[in-house]
Amino acid sequence: MPNWRKWNSRGKGIAFLHGNVYYDTEMTIRVLDRKTVSQIAAGEVVERPASVVKELVENALDAGADQITVEAGGGGVSQIKVTDNGAGIPADEVGLAFQRYATSKIDTLADLISIGSLGFRGEALPSIAAVAQVDMVTCAAGETVGAHVTITDEAISRREGQGRARGTTITVRDLFHNVPARRKFLKSVATENSHIASVISQCALAYPEVRFSLVIDGKVSLRTPGRGRLTDSILEVFGTEIAGNMLEVGIAGRQWDGGDDTIGVTGMVTAPTVSRSGRGYLSFFVNRRWVNSRLLARAVEEAYHGLLMVGRHPVAVLNIRLPAPEVDVNIHPAKREVKFRNEHAVFTAVQKAVRQALVEQMVVPAIEEVATRYSAPAARGSASVAPAPVENHPAHHPSQAPSLFTASLPVLRVLGQVLNSYIIAEGPDGLYLIDQHAAHERVRFDMVRRQRAGQAIPVQGLLEPVPLDVSPRQAEVLSSWCGKLAGFGFTLEPFGDRTYLVRAVPSLLHGADWAGVLRELLDSLSSGRSDDWEEKIIESIACHGAVRSGQSMTDDEMRELVRQLEQAESPYTCPHGRPTMIHLSSGQIAREFGRT
Ligand code: ADP
Ligand code: MG
Repeated sequence: MPNWRKWNSRGKGIAFLHGNVYYDTEMTIRVLDRKTVSQIAAGEVVERPASVVKELVENALDAGADQITVEAGGGGVSQIKVTDNGAGIPADEVGLAFQRYATSKIDTLADLISIGSLGFRGEALPSIAAVAQVDMVTCAAGETVGAHVTITDEAISRREGQGRARGTTITVRDLFHNVPARRKFLKSVATENSHIASVISQCALAYPEVRFSLVIDGKVSLRTPGRGRLTDSILEVFGTEIAGNMLEVGIAGRQWDGGDDTIGVTGMVTAPTVSRSGRGYLSFFVNRRWVNSRLLARAVEEAYHGLLMVGRHPVAVLNIRLPAPEVDVNIHPAKREVKFRNEHAVFTAVQKAVRQALVEQMVVPAIEEVATRYSAPAARGSASVAPAPVENHPAHHPSQAPSLFTASLPVLRVLGQVLNSYIIAEGPDGLYLIDQHAAHERVRFDMVRRQRAGQAIPVQGLLEPVPLDVSPRQAEVLSSWCGKLAGFGFTLEPFGDRTYLVRAVPSLLHGADWAGVLRELLDSLSSGRSDDWEEKIIESIACHGAVRSGQSMTDDEMRELVRQLEQAESPYTCPHGRPTMIHLSSGQIAREFGRT
């Protein structure tokens, strides 16, 4: 059914919208011209500069290169240059490479069943040429001179011989110059750079035997040694803290034998002692092809079940090896998703392989799961109300938030601490069990917000500047966030390619894990959405310096915390929307004891 239909603007035909396609019955059907067709098709493959990088690097890998250099300028829009030492393209095939659906990798659809290469659709080079200026120098083995071709408007505009060692260099300039709509949708240079860095990081993780160099605006952003050790790549991509805490999954060289011996799972995952607040650290490769997969992410999370706190996520780099017919790689134009024939077998294999690695190599005892049920005070109405969702953040929308969360707290008398995590207090109507961490987070959150509003964030200078190593992706993010972080008291200055010197931190984080705060921020800020960035920074500062669960508190400390909480604008929830306390009303207590 069309969504709407009406006379068209000329009043001569009916126009209607079906799904998101606009039809006009006055328009005659005609075949689109070749240029329009190729630009439409290119849109599927080349979404942003990082897509160009991905396609070119995949071609280099398919050509057997073991040294690949990627140079990007202007966020990849002005220029992307990929140089490899792979097989090169024979001089007489150079023109063919830029034709749509021209590929050396398959002949018929049947070949897809046993596809071993990353490319096969023959769409990348023509798609790129449809939306940019392309220049290629290539030389195949056994040829004395290489070919240098320039492609303008999808056709070879210049061709000459040029000497070079075996391999290929492709330079892509002025991306989307003829697709203004696409160009408008691109994000900042820093964001596009961070996508590029992330593509190369994934390639480096999938191919530790290849030497990758990523140079962004003349600066080396990532470089791997190409010695074939996954740990080397992990070190370069994620830094020392993560690299030092990885556990090996599966046994390299031998297939993991978990009942279904056709599935191999190899790679590394973090010990549960090291975790991250986002899912961005899960890298999956299927037969070494980087893929997005909810299924695999769930399998890994399942393996960590009970070992990580709620909201924490592991770092994982896993390659799933399975016979080519078991997986369909042709369901997505950019080849970022795959379909498994037997999803259940893959899920189980991954989950078991990771679990086995954790159980066998783990050094710390498992954290018990904590039930997070919450019952609202009976006196306030409904029997069990879930805490307000984060979007309803009372600090943001005081008028819309449920009254429970904006109501002020009665004066409470602290009775003691239980489990080193909760404060027991007595109020005018019964008993209060206060989560010390959540409560402190709320108090600190309000404090930072007040300081921020008054432009007065107290700063603590460090006695000596401390170096902070960041991943290539984090470095890109940091280059654009440095100023905003300074507004919160972080004084950072670049110190070499992937290191920053931290000179000062917000006083509230003095003595706390401020490096953890910075890394967490760089990861969450990189996700592109930036409208809530202030909130994220404040939350992170609030959470990290807050008293932990399991930390014993003196009576004075508890009284001080409760007094501050009484003054909070929304004392009943922490900044993430979870409850700070459970209230057992005197009525409830009496009922439980069968007194009413
Ligand atoms: P596909 O990778 O799907 O085959 P592309 O459009 O990406 O399609 O590339 C077309 C063809 O050009 C490839 O099949 C390959 O033969 C050749 N080619 C592209 N890039 C390279 C390279 N860096 N080295 C060698 N050959 C290449
Ligand atoms: Mg390709």
